Amino acid sequence: MSYGEKIISYLEENNRGQSEFLQASRSFIRSIEPVLNAHPEYQNAALLERLVEPERLYVFRVPWVDDRGKVRVNRGYRIQFNSAIGPYKGGLRFHPSVNLSVVKFLAFEQIFKNSLTSLPIGAGKGGCNFNPKGKSDNEIMHFCQSFMTSLYRVIGEDTDVPAGDVGVGSKEIGYLFGQYKRITNKYVGVLTGKGLSYGGSLARTEATGYGLIYFVQALLESMDSSLHGKNVVISGSGNVAIYAVEKAFEMGAKVLTVSDSSGFVYDKDGIDIEILKEIKEKKRDRIYEYVNHKKTAEYFPGQRPWNIPCDVALPCATQNEILIDDAKELCKNGCILVAEGANMPTTPEAIKYFQNNKIIFGPAKAANAGGVSVSALEMSQNSQRMSKSFVQVDKLLENIMENIYYNIADAAEEYNDKGNLVLGANAAGFLKVADAMMAQGVV
Ligand code: NDP
Repeated sequence: MSYGEKIISYLEENNRGQSEFLQASRSFIRSIEPVLNAHPEYQNAALLERLVEPERLYVFRVPWVDDRGKVRVNRGYRIQFNSAIGPYKGGLRFHPSVNLSVVKFLAFEQIFKNSLTSLPIGAGKGGCNFNPKGKSDNEIMHFCQSFMTSLYRVIGEDTDVPAGDVGVGSKEIGYLFGQYKRITNKYVGVLTGKGLSYGGSLARTEATGYGLIYFVQALLESMDSSLHGKNVVISGSGNVAIYAVEKAFEMGAKVLTVSDSSGFVYDKDGIDIEILKEIKEKKRDRIYEYVNHKKTAEYFPGQRPWNIPCDVALPCATQNEILIDDAKELCKNGCILVAEGANMPTTPEAIKYFQNNKIIFGPAKAANAGGVSVSALEMSQNSQRMSKSFVQVDKLLENIMENIYYNIADAAEEYNDKGNLVLGANAAGFLKVADAMMAQGVV
């Protein structure tokens, strides 16, 4: 049995029921087999055994009182997975589906994503099984205050810097930051994704969606092509999807779809970004509202958008949203490129299908690294007590995403698998962390 397979057996034995974490760690370990074969010293140092075990893991009670005076209790998590190359960094997710497995898979992926950004950030992730949907502002504030009352003990501007993720936007970050400051009496950059009036970075809101499109553009340019004139299918209508739509449009592409967990909208004339922002950012409404604003649009309840013919598909909603049948449909309809805006939106079978059918596949840890990159830039602006302009941050983001693409493409070639960006991203992300871990001894 190979070193990698031994670790997978160990993981399966010791993490029963953690299906998302096992899916992510198994796929990662199998893909870096050629790297492990080239570095026997990693086995002697039990490097993988250490890498798959979080450095620290906090699970805590989050009690709060709703508007009717009823006491509610949720379960909070913070996983400090790896600090080899910098302070723990990664978002907080508030969603009913949050559990240990989901948070661990996200934190594990974050290790390599953060490494790929070339910035000095380690990996963490956290969240809670709290559902912000349908809650009043007052309830959300009280919940966030209770969450931070536990979390503040383990985070800090030089140890662990959380950010937003699904269900945690600027409003929640504001409440969390306010409570941290109140408890600790410190005004520091302990969270990113903050509002501009209290230490946030320009272009953070746009960063993941824009970054995804910069990555896709760099990839297409390396093939002497571009997004101009391409038909693009996007899922989701949250933070990542909205800004991917905006930047794709700016680059001359036509975005045909957006979605939410109830269904998808198809607009044959291209999604109108102003209408999308009005519905999702201002009114915080459901995506089916779009068809009431645009005659060329149709709504498909209960469906995902992968049967709409396109050149480029960008899943930007959630994990495991492209299944094998969706992959076949995309391939049949002429799609040439899939890049992940969401974390782990494509199942391992679907990824295999894309690779076997010569569809270019850009994995999340590379393609959606723009958000955490600008978060790291927010940290450095906070430390310096200064702020950069939108244009400066956006330019840095574009450079980071181009570098990520070229680094992972080179890494794939180095391991004799040109075009395999999954291998390239995992290898390049892993090697930097592995090098730092080896240098720091058995810790
Ligand atoms: P948001 O909460 O802003 O939006 C999520 C979108 O996905 C919503 O449209 C939501 O619809 C939809 N969605 C959620 N669950 C499902 C589901 N089960 N089926 C179909 N649609 C669903 O989140 P973000 O845009 O911030 O994040 C999206 C993805 O990108 C996540 O995987 C996140 O981890 C990843 N990501 C985000 C980053 C960021 O900076 N924001 C950075 C890197 C990765 P509904 O309203 O119906 O729930």
